[in-house]
Amino acid sequence: MKKADVFEFFRRLAEENPDPQTELEYGNVYQLLVAVVLSAQSTDVGVNKATRALFREVKTPSEMIALGEEELKEHIKTIGLFNSKAKNVIALSEILEREHGGEVPADRDSLTALPGVGRKTANVVLNSAHGAETFAVDTHIFRVCNRTGMAKGKTPLAVELGLEKKVPGPFRVGAHHWLILHGRYICKARMPECWRCPVVDLCSFKAKVLEKPGRKAKS
Ligand code: SF4
Repeated sequence: MKKADVFEFFRRLAEENPDPQTELEYGNVYQLLVAVVLSAQSTDVGVNKATRALFREVKTPSEMIALGEEELKEHIKTIGLFNSKAKNVIALSEILEREHGGEVPADRDSLTALPGVGRKTANVVLNSAHGAETFAVDTHIFRVCNRTGMAKGKTPLAVELGLEKKVPGPFRVGAHHWLILHGRYICKARMPECWRCPVVDLCSFKAKVLEKPGRKAKS
């Protein structure tokens, strides 16, 4: 995708949604970190259902440690992989208490040193909590970037590095959210809704779905 088209792509998404936010619910950076760790291979809606009650009770790493692994599992048992996620959340809370004074560090290396925190999770926290120009490539962003031709790559890291190069200045902080929301609600995995896509003319996907299923094509 040409530079001018990438600019226009984000300009249109920004026009529709000027202040994009994560759909995960949280009250502080620590809760955001926990929510992102819990969201791996799970939906934001499912995570929010489980964390509403949890986050009323637990706002800091020390409160999480006091809650304990078994109680935490009770709260999050509706989320996939809850056993290993509970273990990681307790372990990362202990490290935050021991090594970071109970605060969530604002650099990628310290974040990825925490149990259950990979590059994608660190990028989400840096972007959503600290306004960093990071591109957390999840399944939606990976798909949108490859389909549209904005940043093609065989791995999430390759796509992330492509976005680093391609996304223009005014859109670097919001790009992550715009791309996720676009992938989640329009450029869907099984059937992209190209017939109502605001960037259809900029996208190079060959198998566009230009007629809404069920509608008869005009003769
Ligand atoms: S035109 Fe279709 S494939 Fe391209 S970005 Fe829009 S929804 Fe996705």
